[in-house]
Amino acid sequence: MWTNTQDKALQARAQRVMPGGMYGHESTRLLPADFPQFFQRAQGTRLWDVDGNEYIDYMCAFGPNLLGYGHEAVEAAARAQAQRGDTMTGPSDAMVRLAELFVDTVSHADWAMFCKNGTDATAMALVCARAHRQRRKVLLAQGAYHGAAPWCMPQAAGSTPEDRAHIIPFRYNDLDSLAAAVELAGDDLAGIFATPFRHEAFSDQYLPGADYARAVRRVCDERDALLVVDDVRAGFRMARDCSWSALGVQPDLSTWGKCIANGHPISAMLGSEKARDAAKSIYVTGSFWFSAVPMEAAIATLQLVRDTDYLERIMHTGQLLRDGLQAQAASHGFALRQTGPVQMPQIFFEDDADMRVGYAWTAAAVRRGVYLHPYHNMFINAALTPEDVARTLERTDDAFAELRHSRAALPPQNDPRVMERLRRAALATEPA
Ligand code: PMP
Repeated sequence: MWTNTQDKALQARAQRVMPGGMYGHESTRLLPADFPQFFQRAQGTRLWDVDGNEYIDYMCAFGPNLLGYGHEAVEAAARAQAQRGDTMTGPSDAMVRLAELFVDTVSHADWAMFCKNGTDATAMALVCARAHRQRRKVLLAQGAYHGAAPWCMPQAAGSTPEDRAHIIPFRYNDLDSLAAAVELAGDDLAGIFATPFRHEAFSDQYLPGADYARAVRRVCDERDALLVVDDVRAGFRMARDCSWSALGVQPDLSTWGKCIANGHPISAMLGSEKARDAAKSIYVTGSFWFSAVPMEAAIATLQLVRDTDYLERIMHTGQLLRDGLQAQAASHGFALRQTGPVQMPQIFFEDDADMRVGYAWTAAAVRRGVYLHPYHNMFINAALTPEDVARTLERTDDAFAELRHSRAALPPQNDPRVMERLRRAALATEPA
């Protein structure tokens, strides 16, 4: 019997001692009321909340779980280093071995620098791009998420127009818009950021055209600016290389985080020879950036990325899930819009402008032990088996059945914050 009394009690206590009860992307405030906020453990592809409910988890910690929670080889490497030391007066030899492994794995990379979160890596890339030719203007696709820092955060509170004074927005995958932004930057263009594909919350995902990716590369070459591919979210889920390698485009800098140590806290900026001098010149650091345990976990993860068929497996199970859900929805009289790569699913319902159906369906799935997200892209991990997908589909079938009966009576989605996010996403992400 699914209950959430412990979770609700913790949420009430959190309201008193944490502003708003929770912050950031892991806050459940925009989710249906049943979604748990607090978890007690995770193993493989499964997750248990504080009430003991078990889920087949399709969020993977918003990306970090690539190989399965608690993967034995990764955890053994981390445990062994933890006994020797973690955060010390300087790094261990793992830092050099990890940099060598990245340089050997990612085509464009001639060097690597490590930090903690994706935001550290993108901020480092920003500084590096500006240091390259001492220029200021940086182009960001409108609505693209690159982290929670004043120059790029999605919400205005606490930032000033001056924080973004030299940031020029343009429309993703739109050559005319890109050209106009480049013109605006003039001879002050430092760099252009690109996510590997369009993967914003509240919106359909789509891949860029190869002509667009090549045009971004060409502009950066002509203007001697740096191209940054932000692979924090998609890295190693699209390829065993930088994600734009599939389009035949190599960046000057790429940023990585989330899954590179299968859940251990480490992120990276990788760069080509062209950007080495700029990277040498900048001052970037952090108290925990040199810790040895996450570096050993990253080495173990990268070895598995190189040596196993994890990528083919997540693409296979992702496809099974997508095909199964599409057929199942149709059999219940619903039409789904499933977009982006199958290993990073984004699922919306057709004819569901205010998302009332999507919210009700994901809530029904959660109550049945399948953690699906109504508005953020999900992630497939390599511990998910075809049997897990079959078990998922049994439960979603039940969720669809419940929805079919209750659809006409579903109340409108009346959370103004959700509607505002939907409106903004539609403005920012409409393909040209
Ligand atoms: N860039 C992209 C593309 C991301 O998806 C994210 C996180 N969702 C970040 C940067 C920031 O990473 P972090 O939350 O680890 O700071």
